[in-house]
Amino acid sequence: MIYFDNAATTKPDKNALEFAKIYNEDNFFNPSALYVPGINTNNDIELARKNILKNVCDSGYDIIFTSCGTESDNTAVFSGVRHGYSITTKSEHSAIYKSFLTLKQKGNLVEFIEVDKFGSVNEDVLYEFVKNNKVDFVSIMHVNNETGAINDINKISAELKKINPNLIFHSDGVQAFGKIPFKLAQSVDLYSISAHKINGLKGVGALIKKKNINLSPYIIGGGQENNLRSGTENVFGIKVLEHVTKVHYDNIENNYSHVLELNNYVRENIDKDLFNVISSSEASPYILSISAIGLKGEIITHLLERDNIYVGNGSACSAKNPHSRVIKECGYGTKVLDGVIRISFSQDNTLDEVKILVEKLNFHAKKLKGIMRWEMPL
Ligand code: PLP
Repeated sequence: MIYFDNAATTKPDKNALEFAKIYNEDNFFNPSALYVPGINTNNDIELARKNILKNVCDSGYDIIFTSCGTESDNTAVFSGVRHGYSITTKSEHSAIYKSFLTLKQKGNLVEFIEVDKFGSVNEDVLYEFVKNNKVDFVSIMHVNNETGAINDINKISAELKKINPNLIFHSDGVQAFGKIPFKLAQSVDLYSISAHKINGLKGVGALIKKKNINLSPYIIGGGQENNLRSGTENVFGIKVLEHVTKVHYDNIENNYSHVLELNNYVRENIDKDLFNVISSSEASPYILSISAIGLKGEIITHLLERDNIYVGNGSACSAKNPHSRVIKECGYGTKVLDGVIRISFSQDNTLDEVKILVEKLNFHAKKLKGIMRWEMPL
């Protein structure tokens, strides 16, 4: 199998089962328990907190463990919202986009800022809006999950705080964490991550939070996670997240260059008469969106599957919708939207795999276009 849908999920790290064994056999204790094994388990979580944070931020931040990136995003929005405007972009993942729609339905003041043709926020429109309105909460994603567009969230948050130092700035970092070499500036208050996008396990995410930001809890109960996210912690999932975070950050520069090489190979070698490239050359190299001209991306996706090659059709969370909302917001019409294919790489993909992918992409698109003669059945 050749797997190029790593923005949807990644293959779990080979050591994940070891952690599952440790924390489900010998050390299965509830981290809130007051006896020594419970306290030790709690200490293991505290260590994970520190070890994860040190890769992306300096002191002054804390971490709230959640069940996934979606929960981290929802927590940021529903815990961070105040009385003034909450603003976000038109190209956010549904975890943010639909949370904002919900805020709107509840009567909150909400604004969706337009994006450019690659999916990055229009910064001028954003700053102008914040200058002219009372804005309390801003959420701008770091790396777009469909186009790979990168928003310079350190710069954007600093600019926004110059206009209004009291607003809360959140960023969805699910497709950036462990992949894009980067440290959070102090102007970023909240940052969402998800374990399964970096070879961790499904069922664990985190909201990185500046210590001085006051949030009201989104999930209420036993008071875990400093009263901000109740529910017994997924200890082995958290320990796997700690492990894969280290593996990713120890290799982040090398992985980035490797994936960039793979991405460039596809860009340079797909047939330009058959495919348009949607992603900017400045985008995260981990995500490459292309569109098969005059063809249905979905059909090519299924033909590739017969070759044992897996790619995506935009966001996996919205695969049932005929067209990608995000690519539509980038300004494309039906013809391009029909043909969208998302190729998303991991550090484990090889150049040989990419060569096969390109050969098959060109082959299937040519065949569907009728440029190549269909083989006659025997
Ligand atoms: N945010 C972005 C940018 C994503 O790409 C995803 C998943 O695709 C999510 C949030 C949701 O993460 P999870 O699947 O962990 O809920």
